[in-house]
Amino acid sequence: MKLQINCTNCKKHFFIEEKAMGRNYLMDEIGAYFEKRCTHCNVKKEYHINQVEAHESGLPKLLGVSVGLLLMIFIRSLLGIKELLRILV
Ligand SMILES: [Zn+2]
Repeated sequence: MKLQINCTNCKKHFFIEEKAMGRNYLMDEIGAYFEKRCTHCNVKKEYHINQVEAHESGLPKLLGVSVGLLLMIFIRSLLGIKELLRILV
């Protein structure tokens, strides 16, 4: 998980190097207010800790969805076989 801030100047998201250990940890580490330079427009602005957003990479979510889908297909095929056996027996 990465941390990102929405730049108040160019409105683009940029990542900050601090690790996501929770907001309280971050507040101890860098304080409630801190200055960050946007990696897009290079403008330094003051941000509040509440403006920090956690950026989750899309991969784990995608993996969860595909595993769920496979499981659904698996259960369905099991039910299908059961149904088939009932007809045959
Ligand atoms: Zn910017």
